[in-house]
Amino acid sequence: MTGSGGAPADTGGTRFVDLHSHSTASDGAATPTALVDGARRAGLLAIALTDHDSIGGVREAMAAVGASDLRVVPGVELSAVDASGETHLLGLHLTDLDALDARLVELREMRRTRAERIVQRLNTLGVPVTMDEVLAVAAGGAIGRPHVARALVANGWAADIRVAFDRYLGAGRPAFVAKDRLSLADAIAIVHRAGGIAVLAHPGASATADRLKALMALGLDGVEVRHPSHDDAETGRILALTERLGLLPSGGSDWHGQPDGARALGAMRVPAEWLERQEARVAGRRPREWVA
Ligand code: AMP
Ligand code: ZN
Ligand code: FE
Ligand code: FE
Repeated sequence: MTGSGGAPADTGGTRFVDLHSHSTASDGAATPTALVDGARRAGLLAIALTDHDSIGGVREAMAAVGASDLRVVPGVELSAVDASGETHLLGLHLTDLDALDARLVELREMRRTRAERIVQRLNTLGVPVTMDEVLAVAAGGAIGRPHVARALVANGWAADIRVAFDRYLGAGRPAFVAKDRLSLADAIAIVHRAGGIAVLAHPGASATADRLKALMALGLDGVEVRHPSHDDAETGRILALTERLGLLPSGGSDWHGQPDGARALGAMRVPAEWLERQEARVAGRRPREWVA
């Protein structure tokens, strides 16, 4: 298993990439610089930094690469809704970061308002956590439920993060508040306007031919095939479907700081060839868009 620490993994000459990771710019545990250091130690060819509703860590990550051959793919993970409920969309290979950030500010403001509602619900349930405590944990990053969970654990109101989600914060639990501002069509358009490709994140069983075709009509470019939430059978099924429909495969560990296991940096063993195919699609598309 490829951990984020220790010696470079013996990959038999094959290079791997990890196209889904989080930093302190959202709910990851590591700074963008520490993420890049971990990726280098894991022997990765490239990582995509895909913070929730934020590109605040991208420039730091790119600067941290220094003289090494590691590449950083500018990315983002947007939370959107469609008929299947909350759906995550990865934007990869972003180029127009400044224009994108203006749009992401609104989404981060929505996250803050939502966190206030979550805190209110927790208070009603008898858990006296405060918004200031949550903001301190988030430390300026895009606020998410993991920050609330960490505040609950720090104050002894939940034994660990898992308990915090199981008891309060998970979908259907009493302090759950949905994010419901952005449609998947708008999310795809935001990614395209920022020069990126739109990749359906960790779709699991929702990756059916009908659904993917409907999303292709909205401009979907790819599907996250390799992800820790997909078992081997699901991964094979989604890869076959993705290739059959002419969508681009992608994958990553969805790293939030885990030192080992399936969610460790690089653990998904995503072939560099998938990244090359994405880059070819981006390179082939840009000139036509510039003319249009
Ligand atoms: P949010 O964007 O605020 O809805 O939070 C979603 C994030 O919470 C995910 O990206 C995960 O990092 C984390 N998460 C979601 N469900 C769980 C869970 N059951 N246990 C621990 N972390 C979770
Ligand atoms: Zn997260
Ligand atoms: Fe996600
Ligand atoms: Fe993620």
